[in-house]
Amino acid sequence: MYKIIIDIGHHENDSGAIGKNGIREVDLNVQIAKECTRQLQRHGIEVINTSGTLQNRVQVEHLEQPNYFVSIHNNAGGGKGCEVLLYSAKYPQLELAQNIEKELIPLNASRGIKERPDLYVLKKTNCPACLIECAFIDSANVELIDELHEQQAFGKAIAKGILKTLKIDYIEESTTNTLYRVCVGAYKDKNNATKVQAEAKAKGFKDTYILEVKDNG
Ligand SMILES: [Zn+2]
Repeated sequence: MYKIIIDIGHHENDSGAIGKNGIREVDLNVQIAKECTRQLQRHGIEVINTSGTLQNRVQVEHLEQPNYFVSIHNNAGGGKGCEVLLYSAKYPQLELAQNIEKELIPLNASRGIKERPDLYVLKKTNCPACLIECAFIDSANVELIDELHEQQAFGKAIAKGILKTLKIDYIEESTTNTLYRVCVGAYKDKNNATKVQAEAKAKGFKDTYILEVKDNG
């Protein structure tokens, strides 16, 4: 079973960047990480969320030995676009970064995959790791990520990039629980029902069955 750490950038006492209208980076990171986690779990992957001090995050990584460590952040400083940061632009973390970047581009143009050997969680983790800056929250770029459904879209995109790296096909979620059952007739004589069922089977419909119901006129 694959194990992934989805690291939630920042925490209550260090909420990261502050954007337009007082929007806090940590609040976005939480929602993105939550959806990313849900999507990965839906594909049978064990996910651990890390938070707290940088040391704590890395300690958990050392203990859990996940396949990948992905840290979720948002940017500030005025600008637009997403960024995927890694310790060095080498495989295997480069493949992870490329797959995630590809999924993010439809949501926010990419500023590229960048080497950041100075970042603690990238430097100290043992497994392939990357850090994602989804969008700038102190410029007009925030409009791409200030709503919950947009944050969830980023979370889903990151999950898709991770799944691709694990060579797991992404399974679309069905939006409804409704099933449309096909009936081909109702008969008083059971023999007629079995005859029609046999015809259906002969035509290749494997999943046929006879349902007994009371005829109330
Ligand atoms: Zn941050």
